[in-house]
Amino acid sequence: GQKEPTNLNALADEYLRLSYHGFRAKDKEFNAELITNFDSKLPKVNVVPQDIGRVLLNVINNAFYAVQQKTKTAGADYKPTVEICTAQQNRSVIISVKDNGTGIPDNVKDKILQPFFTTKPTGEGTGLGLSLTYDMVVKGHGGSIQINSVEAEGSEFIILLPLITTT
Ligand code: ADP
Ligand code: MG
Repeated sequence: GQKEPTNLNALADEYLRLSYHGFRAKDKEFNAELITNFDSKLPKVNVVPQDIGRVLLNVINNAFYAVQQKTKTAGADYKPTVEICTAQQNRSVIISVKDNGTGIPDNVKDKILQPFFTTKPTGEGTGLGLSLTYDMVVKGHGGSIQINSVEAEGSEFIILLPLITTT
């Protein structure tokens, strides 16, 4: 694919709904609150839409999986939530995906970007999502990824993509 000026709000909204629909199709009991906080003035970024779409889909799927897992053990007062925000920050456009799911244990955090690392049962995860995410965001688009996670509390994946520069 070719890089083209892309509206990340539309892409994020589409993949959030697609992912949620996929989880609900397989698990009728599954419910989550979706929160979107899109910057309506977000500048377009120069990306390969399919690549950033795959990145978003993977990170969003991971978030729904984490809240779905936590639903199985948490009490009735647990409200699974997945939140997506976009914003412009300095010379970047940022897109963050936040969940209040299982979180990532400290001894696992170092490994999650490695190809084939997964904590999911066979058939549910390949362990390729975040390594592809890293390659596409960092190597493919000159961006970066920040991960904040607390075990049992939840996780936030922040993707930064450089603004289009006019020279
Ligand atoms: P997969 O989803 O196939 O396991 P990924 O590369 O997408 O592979 O993720 C690797 C691992 O990182 C997951 O198996 C899981 O242990 C951890 N992980 C990723 N995202 C989250 C999240 N939102 N909450 C908890 N753990 C996560
Ligand atoms: Mg994944």
